[in-house]
Amino acid sequence: MRRQLFSLMLVGGWALAGLAARGGQGQDFSKVEIKATKVAGNIYMLQGAGGNIAASIGDDGIVIVDDQFAPLAEKIQASLKSLGITDKPVRFVINTHYHGDHTGGNAPFSSAGSTVIAQDNVRKRLESGGTAGNGGSIHQENKAAEKAALPIITFEHDVTVHLNGEDIRALHFPAGHTDGDSIIFFPKNNVVHMGDDFVRYGFPFIDVTSGGSVQGMIAAMEKATAQLPADVKVIPGHGALSNLDDVREFTKMLKETSAVVENALKAHKTLGQMKQEKILEPWKKWSGDFVNADAFIETLYNSLTGTKGEFVQHN
Ligand SMILES: [Zn+2]
Repeated sequence: MRRQLFSLMLVGGWALAGLAARGGQGQDFSKVEIKATKVAGNIYMLQGAGGNIAASIGDDGIVIVDDQFAPLAEKIQASLKSLGITDKPVRFVINTHYHGDHTGGNAPFSSAGSTVIAQDNVRKRLESGGTAGNGGSIHQENKAAEKAALPIITFEHDVTVHLNGEDIRALHFPAGHTDGDSIIFFPKNNVVHMGDDFVRYGFPFIDVTSGGSVQGMIAAMEKATAQLPADVKVIPGHGALSNLDDVREFTKMLKETSAVVENALKAHKTLGQMKQEKILEPWKKWSGDFVNADAFIETLYNSLTGTKGEFVQHN
C-alpha cells in the first residue's frame, strides 16, 4: 500500500512536469488530499502530490518551502488555514530547485500575493525551459515557465528570511540534484528541508542534464550532516519525515554505488556491460519504480564521465 501510494505520487509528480516516460500523464489532482503534519514548534510538513512542503506558520504570516502543482494551490492554502494558527497569507515561497513538482504552484501563489525566492539557476531554468534527465532513459522537455511563476528574489549562495521569530536560512549547494539546489534550515525549530538532494523513494533521480551530479549530491549531504545539529528533523524532498541517520545511510549508498561504477569505468567496462552484470545488485533494495537499478547505473555513469545526454536543448 505504502509502496503503491508512493509510486502514484512519483508518477503523478512527474506527469505534470512532463516526465511521463511510463505513461503517468493526466493526473487527476481533484483526488489529491493535502495532509499537514506538525514537525516541531511552528513548522509543519504538507504532503499531497509532488515534493514535500515545509511551512513556518506564525504571527507574522506564512513561509512555505516548495509548492507542488498549480492545481493544488487552493488546497494547500486551505490546509494551511485549517490549522487555525493564523489568517495571514503565505508571504514567501522558497523553491528548493526548479522541477515542476516543487515549483508548479509558483504562479498561483505569486498571483495571490506571495513573493517567490530561489537560487539564481532556478529562475534561469524556469525562464528558459529545457531538458531534464539522467542523460539516459529518464528525460523530459520542460516548457518555459510563465512570468508569474518566476522567482522575484534570487540569490547566489544563501539568503535569510526573518519571520515568525526565526532566521530561516536557504543555503545553495552546487551541482547535486540540479545546479540550483538549496537546503532550507529552520534553526529555532531545528528542522531542515533537504529538497531533492535527499529523497526516500530509493535510488535518487539526479538531473545531470540540468547540472546535477552524484559527486555534488554526496558533498551536499556530507556537509549538511556534519554541520546540522545531531537531532535535527529532516524533511526529505519526497517521502516520510527523517533524521540524520537516514541521510547518512542514503549518502553511504551513494558513495558505495559511485565507487562500484568508478571501478567498472577503470576496468573499461561499457554502460551496457555494467547493466548486464547487474553491478548494483547488492543495493537492489534501493531500486524503485521511478529510478530502477539500470537507470541509476546510467545516472552514475553519466555523472562520473561528465556526460549530459544527447538531448537537444531548447532555449
Ligand atoms: Zn526534483
